[in-house]
Amino acid sequence: MSVHEPSQWTDTAPRTHLLTGTTSGQYQQLVAAGAHRVARRIAGADGPTTGPTVRQLTTRLAGIDLDHPLRDSQLALDELEDIYLRDAVYFHHPRYLAHLNCPVALPALLGETVLSAVNSSLDTWDQSTGATLIEQRLVEWTAQQIGMGPSADGVFTSGGTQSNLQALLLARDETISRLNADDPRGATGPTSANLSRLCILTSESAHFSVAKSAALLGLGYDAVRTVACDATRRMVPAALRAEIEDCQRRGLVPMAVVATAGTTDFGSIDPLPDIAAECTRSGVWLHVDAAYGCGLLVSRHRYRLDGIEHADSVTVDFHKSFFQPVSSSAVIVRERRTLRHATYHAEYLNPADTATQTPNQVDKSIQTTRRFDALKLWLTLRIMGAEAIGTLFDTVIERATEAAEILTADPRFQLAAPPQLSTVVFRYVPGAGISAAQGDAAAVYARNALYTSGSALVAQTTVDGRRHLKLTILNPDTTRADITTVRDLLAGHAEEYLAANGVLAPAS
Ligand SMILES: *Cc1c(COP(=O)(O)O)cnc(C)c1O
Repeated sequence: MSVHEPSQWTDTAPRTHLLTGTTSGQYQQLVAAGAHRVARRIAGADGPTTGPTVRQLTTRLAGIDLDHPLRDSQLALDELEDIYLRDAVYFHHPRYLAHLNCPVALPALLGETVLSAVNSSLDTWDQSTGATLIEQRLVEWTAQQIGMGPSADGVFTSGGTQSNLQALLLARDETISRLNADDPRGATGPTSANLSRLCILTSESAHFSVAKSAALLGLGYDAVRTVACDATRRMVPAALRAEIEDCQRRGLVPMAVVATAGTTDFGSIDPLPDIAAECTRSGVWLHVDAAYGCGLLVSRHRYRLDGIEHADSVTVDFHKSFFQPVSSSAVIVRERRTLRHATYHAEYLNPADTATQTPNQVDKSIQTTRRFDALKLWLTLRIMGAEAIGTLFDTVIERATEAAEILTADPRFQLAAPPQLSTVVFRYVPGAGISAAQGDAAAVYARNALYTSGSALVAQTTVDGRRHLKLTILNPDTTRADITTVRDLLAGHAEEYLAANGVLAPAS
């Protein structure tokens, strides 16, 4: 299919560079021109990337003088092909198997076009009107999928990192208001004395943004206490109880337990009912990081999230398992009133006396000016429907199971654990007489060689001190044949490395 190249738009007076009532025709042409370039690239890509080196792209960028504009959209797009589009990493390609990036839903792209042009800002009602109500409905919908009651609320964020940070901010300040209630000096808000007593409990497989949040919230990295996992990388509830009791014995105050529903490497889902029971027993805030696993909410595997309804807060990344473009994420809380810890009344924006009259989402957010990212999910639900999203996620979960079977049957590889969502973590096993360290080095080489060739992308991680490779499957178009191709390419590159290093006789 050939895509018609929309007509060119060139420079005139500076004012006509803005989208106004008189430039709406040019606006449509420009969007179409951009879409045309992307469509051509996507239709023509025979691998997820061309495998550019940093040096190659740096050199091309260095030749561009930002103080001399091209004053021509076609020329600028031609230049962009050279420095970006041709060598970008394309997540729609079935052999892109590296990180938690997904092919994006078309209705969401429609939403993206609308939201950036209208440019609503979700901080206050008077900058957003219907956009605020749409976001609120989606928050409500998500809370219902989680199984939270009518006092639930939340807000869209830039991603799981920010959602986790905000959830832990609320957990911190809820805990501190409880501590301050007993404070003889009548302290309000965090003090260095009470901050230094707080700790967070999470599993060793949790996302690093938990530790980063602890540091940002003034607790320090060492406030995060790691709870042991079992062989399937799920938090051990008995170990959680022991850690909580140990904290209490030392005079520390556990301010939150962070359970993960879909760990980044293994897709493992912590035992949510047992963890929730432990949190209720000890009165600790339960945050569930479902950045990756949130797609289960609309999948036929929904039961695997049972217990999530007991959470005080939940992180969902629609830009992972809901096939939304970056950014699209939300933090959902069980009790609306806990969002008050994110509220600040600014006279110019959201004075306290307007709070009851108009819905100002800035009262619930740690951002001020904020994109209408919710529109992408809205159009996705209105056009495709949630069930279609769930079916896509179910497909990639199935594919990961098949990938695991393929790798298990192959003596050159060894699975680290059975897949639990759509990732597969495995090792290259070089064979008799070759050390594990040499095998690790060969695996790292193979991954890089795959990138350089541009034919596929996989990730790497370390498990129990050994280099592992990881397939993250979020593309329903990825086939068994793609998996076996990638497997054989990896093995071939690894053998190449071992042969080049004199460890293995070169293949005849
Ligand atoms: C991806 C991920 C995050 C971070 O989310 P971003 O959207 O990348 O900020 C947090 N937790 C888990 C479990 C994740 O997989």
